[in-house]
Amino acid sequence: MTTSLKADDTVQLGEEMHRLISELYPICRSITGDGVRKTLHILQQLIPIEVHEVPSGTPVFDWTVPKEWNIRDAYVLAPTGERVIDFKQSNLHVLNYSIPVHQRMSFSELKEHLFSIPEYPDWIPYRTSYYKESWGFCLAHNSLCKLVEGEYEVCIDSSLENGYLTYGEYYLPGKTDEEVLFSCHICHPSLCNDNLSGIALATFLAKHLSSQPRYYSYRFLFIPGTIGSITWLCLNEDKIHRVKHGLVISGVGDPGKMTYKKSRRSNAEIDKVVAYVLNNISENYQIEEFSPYGYDERQYCSPGFNLPVGRLTRTPFGQYPEYHTSADDLKFVNSNALAQSLVVYAAVVDVLEHNFKYLSTSPKCEPQLGRRGLYGNLGGQKLTKADEMAMLWVLNLSDGDYNLLDITERSGLEFAVINKAANTLFKSGLLKKL
Ligand code: ZN
Repeated sequence: MTTSLKADDTVQLGEEMHRLISELYPICRSITGDGVRKTLHILQQLIPIEVHEVPSGTPVFDWTVPKEWNIRDAYVLAPTGERVIDFKQSNLHVLNYSIPVHQRMSFSELKEHLFSIPEYPDWIPYRTSYYKESWGFCLAHNSLCKLVEGEYEVCIDSSLENGYLTYGEYYLPGKTDEEVLFSCHICHPSLCNDNLSGIALATFLAKHLSSQPRYYSYRFLFIPGTIGSITWLCLNEDKIHRVKHGLVISGVGDPGKMTYKKSRRSNAEIDKVVAYVLNNISENYQIEEFSPYGYDERQYCSPGFNLPVGRLTRTPFGQYPEYHTSADDLKFVNSNALAQSLVVYAAVVDVLEHNFKYLSTSPKCEPQLGRRGLYGNLGGQKLTKADEMAMLWVLNLSDGDYNLLDITERSGLEFAVINKAANTLFKSGLLKKL
């Protein structure tokens, strides 16, 4: 598989992606608030993302843009006065979207608001309460076990007020206004694979594509999960028909195998292209059928839109124990996995960019290739058997029904070889583009 992303560059790109993840890691993000703004501001140093602010209370289909949440500090003081839970040590300690609270209470009262994972007693869980006003703390089970009876002081210095939902959008125009949509969520605090790896990959893929010639236009969305995609779809309904292919990017930095979840259509071009690329360049991968549960593909693939959008990750969310815990940290994602994932995404784009349908201009019997210098040698270079076979396949199947990937599949040859043959035949006038 040839890809416009060179193997030599990928080691460095993997390291750069990991560095970006490290820079974003300490920020306390949520579905709204300054954490998202800060994150987008850092990404703007790499690509010129446009930041959108949608007011709280805006109706978006069956939902409403929520109040904006911000947090400055949070802690629990033990009867001894010691800070036994401290937001400044890890932003996962606070139940994300907790309402402000500052009061003293007994241990039994406090315990109702504490969350831990007994199976992994050293890990802090990540919990949220977006659509129900509540407060709480998350902590390692070992730390919870050390807490004694007595009076505790609880403080969450947060605000939940009318404000905005913030999201980022980066649009790269191509020759056509038909679009490829890439979407990643930006609403998780200090979690690396779930959230930050997708943000880093989207940013570096966008940066890479910005320097390439493009047939398609590309739209990158950096949005809070669920409410972000619902909001974007609601505010951009007039543009939706342009989306020809799309992928939800997340969980691309863990060491597990690549996993593709098909779009709701299940046989869309993107489904076939990703399957071909994974088969061609990944040693180990799996393909899952669509289901209405998951990341933002849930919204893109809702029946009223039914967009050809799949989800390309490594290990699917929820299938690794580190998922939604403090163990999804900077050590859990590695630069090799990030680089490999980026190579797969870039290869998917390469196939999409060239997967045209052609029509043979000489369909009655085989055209005479030798007379046109297309047999045995081409421009002084000896054609391989595969190159010659590719030309025969392309000529035979270019009847308007088959695109180049279909021809690749029927011929058993590589897409790059089929594409090269199509280009040669096109230049010689034996094919026209549909
Ligand atoms: Zn998540």
